[in-house]
Amino acid sequence: MNTYITNHMDDIKRALLGDKEAARRLTEAGVLLPCPGCRGEDAKHRAVMACVMIECPCGFMAAGYDLEEARQIWNTRAPILSAEEMEMLDEAT
Ligand SMILES: [Zn+2]
Repeated sequence: MNTYITNHMDDIKRALLGDKEAARRLTEAGVLLPCPGCRGEDAKHRAVMACVMIECPCGFMAAGYDLEEARQIWNTRAPILSAEEMEMLDEAT
């Protein structure tokens, strides 16, 4: 886990628990949540036609009219974590 992610860990946890305000702060900071599909951090963005797509190698994706919107969509579609997954996240910090 890189320091950039670690600096935003509290907001990332909140966002993963469904806090839209935390997700918005992360989006403004340019931070993407771990992939909602595989929990990986390898999602990349690319321009597709008139929009921007964020894609993970596992196939999970989000698209928006610009990078900001694509990030917002990505960050707010993360599923709510189970208690076990939350513990794993705590152990990682
Ligand atoms: Zn993924």
